Amino acid sequence: MANPDCIFCKIAAGDIPAFKVHEDDASLAFMDIGPLAEGHVLLIPKAHTETLDGLSVDQAAALLRHLPALVGAVKAATGCEGVNVLQNNGRVAHQVVPHVHFHIIPRNSGDKFSFNWPAGKYPPGRAEQLAGEISRHLGG
Ligand code: AMP
Ligand code: ZN
Repeated sequence: MANPDCIFCKIAAGDIPAFKVHEDDASLAFMDIGPLAEGHVLLIPKAHTETLDGLSVDQAAALLRHLPALVGAVKAATGCEGVNVLQNNGRVAHQVVPHVHFHIIPRNSGDKFSFNWPAGKYPPGRAEQLAGEISRHLGG
């Protein structure tokens, strides 16, 4: 279940210290060591899984049930105006630690965190075609 080379597995096992804000049998939330804003928290499953699509339905449910309360607690503790929940999968998507984690990031007007959001446009028929492919892979 644990990967001996994984820093988040070590945190989950208590081998590396972290400032924990939540813990149960299956999940852990702790302060990010390199915060994008004060109050930046990470939520992880305790079992080692690299990317979100590797979680079972039950593992995902056991993890994500904590997300609403964590977002609320971060808002209450920091007084932030908004929150981004980010979850990176794969190096190309800026995943540096290959153990599933959700970032809970407080946001305030004028803060330094930004991302490029280059919204595109589908050529005729492409969105419908892709919707069909995705739906097929979902078993629908
Ligand atoms: P990502 O780029 O989505 O893989 O994000 C990994 C996050 O893990 C970064 O925001 C790091 O600051 C954070 N991180 C790495 N090592 C630790 C650690 N020992 N304790 C807390 N956060 C960590
Ligand atoms: Zn791990």
